[in-house]
Amino acid sequence: MKILITGGAGFIGSHLSEALIRQGHEVAALDNLSTGRAENVAQLRGQPSFQLVVGSVLEERLVDKLVERADAVFHLAAAVGVELIVNHPLESLTTNIRGSEIVLEMAHRYQKKVLITSTSEIYGKNANGPLKEDEDRILGSPLKSRWAYSTSKAVDEILAYTYWKERGLPTVIVRLFNTVGPRQTGAYGMVIPRFVQQALANQPITVYGSGKQSRCFLHVNDAVGALAALIQLPEAVGEAFNIGSQEEVTMEALARRVIALTGSRSAIQYVPYDKAYEAGFEDMVRRVPDISKIKRAIGFSPSAGLEDILRNVIDYYRHHSDAPLNECLRRDSPGT
Ligand code: UDP
Repeated sequence: MKILITGGAGFIGSHLSEALIRQGHEVAALDNLSTGRAENVAQLRGQPSFQLVVGSVLEERLVDKLVERADAVFHLAAAVGVELIVNHPLESLTTNIRGSEIVLEMAHRYQKKVLITSTSEIYGKNANGPLKEDEDRILGSPLKSRWAYSTSKAVDEILAYTYWKERGLPTVIVRLFNTVGPRQTGAYGMVIPRFVQQALANQPITVYGSGKQSRCFLHVNDAVGALAALIQLPEAVGEAFNIGSQEEVTMEALARRVIALTGSRSAIQYVPYDKAYEAGFEDMVRRVPDISKIKRAIGFSPSAGLEDILRNVIDYYRHHSDAPLNECLRRDSPGT
């Protein structure tokens, strides 16, 4: 198939591009290289089955042309990372809502199947677990950036779903829970690349809040395997799927494991949320996906555990540098 991946030079998009090319597909990756990086797909450049198109999902004529040429679309382009969203709320909303609208509009014009990536942020503060796809969303004020982001992704989901219900456009919704692996940058807040880089540099490991909050981390290879399988599955159309791991870890325990695995001299530094993000910031205490639906659909089961993931990311960062982490913490300006 000829596949268009929006956000194809991003962390997940670049791994998806590689996986699809390995499966024998042709890939066009559309990316504005804002959070995506050309180096992420450097190993694919020069391959006849891969094309990097530098541009935005907000450029209607470009998206029109690319969708027309494709057989199916993976829509991954989005503002991601809690820190990025808190720092640039308006830009994040526009990219997510308007970008998805344009992609879906063009896909409808040419009747092309679309898989749209959403997020576990959809569930908001719902700390029940494991969270099923039809679980209630529990959100704070829309004037808080994090909840505005959650709402923007919910609008994307509603758009994708109603394009299917009302106009018959085949769409699939996927909610990714904390996906990690090589090439993920810590520059937009993601915890594992940050802890690993801090540990390797023997700098303090910045645990936000009490460190008792927990997450489940999935290796990006497991995530892209699921995405590639879902787009082929006719029964997935009109459905939403959680994709994630169920191996739960607190941020405090994660910091300790990273220190142990790297043999680092780093100490843990607890950073209050209002210093790390903004005044009044609310975190999720817990976030565990129910993955029985995706298991039933494609036999999904994560192949990499947290230990494998950490070793893989540590190995990656021993050989690669990232944006300086100190620039990411907005210590001086809480509430701005
Ligand atoms: N976190 C942390 N230190 C950091 C970055 C993040 O303790 O340097 C925490 C963050 O507050 C959250 C968890 O790690 O509780 C996961 O954060 P991430 O941004 O990776 O994902 P999300 O918040 O979307 O689950």
